Amino acid sequence: MPENRFPLPGCCSSLKRRILLASGNVHKLEEFRRLLPEGYSVEPSLPDTFFPPEDRETYFGNACLKANACFPAPDRLILADDSGLEVDSLDGRPGILSSRFAGAGASALMNCQALIREMKTVPPEKRTARFRCVLVLLDGNSGRLIGSAQGVVEGRLTKGILGEGGFGYDPLFIPDGFQVTFGILPSSIKDRISHRAVAVRNLVNLLESLSA
Ligand code: IMP
Repeated sequence: MPENRFPLPGCCSSLKRRILLASGNVHKLEEFRRLLPEGYSVEPSLPDTFFPPEDRETYFGNACLKANACFPAPDRLILADDSGLEVDSLDGRPGILSSRFAGAGASALMNCQALIREMKTVPPEKRTARFRCVLVLLDGNSGRLIGSAQGVVEGRLTKGILGEGGFGYDPLFIPDGFQVTFGILPSSIKDRISHRAVAVRNLVNLLESLSA
């Protein structure tokens, strides 16, 4: 067996790789199910999983917290995502605090409205932003960190909510190369270019190289 080759849980040539997603976010679950290639199955974390407060200073740290909250997960890979929106004119905020921009327990609409207010006087050329996603993958049997990957999508922010698709800040974010927000673009386009799509491709490449 080559040096870098090791058995991954949930892996068998005739079976799907079984991934447990460490998230209570149904939108993320849907996205990962669409994004992961054939050969991977994604199941949600148990409804009574206790996810501790996301108090780390990095996306990676918060993703590890979520993944560890789901350990053990026998014969599965545990996948966790931490992501956020980084706005240049706000020095990178809300970043890791994206889900709580308008305060603890804020809804997506409240967060979008708070961002619209803060950005009210920012001119078009200074409305640049990006979504960032960091993924971590744990061995559900041992808790060992198998790998981590990152993805980014650059874009700009609108002055108001445009569209009803997607989730979170999607109706405010126009990805580079497009004229409308992720809230309007079909999910097939978001699935091709999003921060999460890029991170998933990077993670799958890593996994394939480890088990090749
Ligand atoms: P997390 O669930 O702790 O990773 O928080 C991520 C937060 O960032 C979400 O609640 C959204 O506000 C925002 N976010 C992350 N990814 C996306 C996306 O794909 N679209 C819109 N908002 C996102």
